[in-house]
Amino acid sequence: APVSVSALLKSRIRTVRDWPKPGVNFRDATTLFHDPEAFRATIDAFAEDCAKQEIDIIAAVDARGFILGGALAYKLGKPFALVRKKGKLPYKTVSEDYHLEYGTAAVEIHADACKAGDRVLIVDDLIATGGTLLAATKLFRVLHGEVIGVAAVIDLPELGGSKRLRDVGLKVHALCE
Ligand code: AMP
Repeated sequence: APVSVSALLKSRIRTVRDWPKPGVNFRDATTLFHDPEAFRATIDAFAEDCAKQEIDIIAAVDARGFILGGALAYKLGKPFALVRKKGKLPYKTVSEDYHLEYGTAAVEIHADACKAGDRVLIVDDLIATGGTLLAATKLFRVLHGEVIGVAAVIDLPELGGSKRLRDVGLKVHALCE
């Protein structure tokens, strides 16, 4: 993203120190959603990145990812697929467990969230360890979707997530670090 977009977003994202536990700087994207200028700049920057590749489906991760991915799908006129925490989707699902710092979590998509060969972009607000987006990627790969990349507002490169994602062949679009 251009320096100006990255600088704008950094100035509009709130940091909450020591939340949800001591030592974590929580990058709170809700302040971005509350700010029409910054929100539009975010979606426009994602759309510009997307124009460089063919995409059939925009997917996004529960819950802040939905706000970004929904707006992007609307702007691009593409289908939107939900990656939800386990137990929320009503129809047949595919599910993937992944490790968190403490314990495990699971994400799911509907079994008809994509067709074989569909080119999927997955959106979330932030890349930390990359575990969430990696689990989401595996779900679409189970359905033989072709995950071409991920898009996030924020990348925390020192946590290694964006590298992990690139190492499994994904293009990583992040608007600021
Ligand atoms: P990870 O799976 O480690 O890449 O974590 C990414 C997920 O956790 C995203 O859905 C983020 O919303 C959330 N997350 C992790 N660390 C932070 C942070 N420092 N600030 C805000 N959200 C975070």
